[in-house]
Amino acid sequence: MSAVRIAKHGSTAETLQADFVVDATGRAALTKEFLQGNGYGLPEESSIAVDIRYTCGVFRLPVDDTRNWKVLMTRPDPKVSGRRAIMFPVEGSQQWILGLGGVNGDSAPTDLEGFLEYARTLRTSTAFNAIRNADLNGELTRFAFPKSFRRHFERMMKFPRGLLPIADSICRINPSFGQGMSVAAKEAVLLSEVFDELSHLPDPLLELAPAFLDRLDTVLGDPWSVAAQDYAYEHLANERPPEFAAKLKFQAALTRLAAEDPAIHRLMTEVAQLLKPSSVFRAPAMAERLSQAIRAYSPR
Ligand SMILES: Cc1cc2nc3c(=O)[nH]c(=O)nc-3n(C[C@H](O)[C@H](O)[C@H](O)COP(=O)(O)OP(=O)(O)OC[C@H]3O[C@@H](n4cnc5c(N)ncnc54)[C@H](O)[C@@H]3O)c2cc1C
Repeated sequence: MSAVRIAKHGSTAETLQADFVVDATGRAALTKEFLQGNGYGLPEESSIAVDIRYTCGVFRLPVDDTRNWKVLMTRPDPKVSGRRAIMFPVEGSQQWILGLGGVNGDSAPTDLEGFLEYARTLRTSTAFNAIRNADLNGELTRFAFPKSFRRHFERMMKFPRGLLPIADSICRINPSFGQGMSVAAKEAVLLSEVFDELSHLPDPLLELAPAFLDRLDTVLGDPWSVAAQDYAYEHLANERPPEFAAKLKFQAALTRLAAEDPAIHRLMTEVAQLLKPSSVFRAPAMAERLSQAIRAYSPR
């Protein structure tokens, strides 16, 4: 690839020469069109059905000296429903953003009364209590996300020189795990490292995409494994991998331990937010606690 064509609204298209084109458009439609139109074929895809919809609003909360949390995450109980909540303060303001999520066609209404009623049905009452007397700023908006997916560009037999998809163009993960921006940042760091390593070659751009795609699993392995938690929802049309039953037991034990021990809750969150690798769970003391918890909590 040696150029991109830019078409801005209201002006004629222009062609920009480029040694290297990074497709960060989030959908990879242009990369796929180029690959197919130039005989490279299309990458294989893995996907995990999610079917999540969430409705978000910005609220000004009343002063409450008893509120002792900084961020709220109400996780669903997959056996009961997929309803969950996430609430963050908006930087530099007195406002908070709350998203209420549902799966399998379930979604929080976009009128305030219905939204409040939906919040009341969550596993715990913290989100409802936070907004029951709050002021909504603006409108409630809804977003739908059908599936997490990963395009396996790394499995392609050949890949064009001078082109590289990145971030969501390669892999989009259920936004309720809050990982996409960290993944994008980590891939940018990986790209810079790979580029430095290849810079001594006569034609680094020839090797750049294959070398980057080869090492992508070091970035995507953990988040994709977090995304696999959506296999827990039995109504979704997912074929569960054989090892999923063991993974479910592991996750249940970890969640129980996290509920009892703040240090483990912190560790679990740090792994989920990609601050630490999932290998921390294999450290001997931690692995032993987890094995005990799996034995204690698993149904016989
Ligand atoms: C509702 C929602 C909530 C999320 N919450 C979180 C979160 O809490 N934490 C987190 O880490 N991640 C979150 N994510 C994921 C995160 O937003 C994405 O993973 C991240 O933005 C991906 O970055 P990107 O640059 O690949 O794509 P994007 O941020 O999608 O950027 C792609 C850009 O390319 C532009 N574009 C597309 N096509 C063309 C074209 N043909 N020509 C020119 N420009 C084009 C688009 O307009 C867009 O500006 C959330 C995502 C969603 C949808």
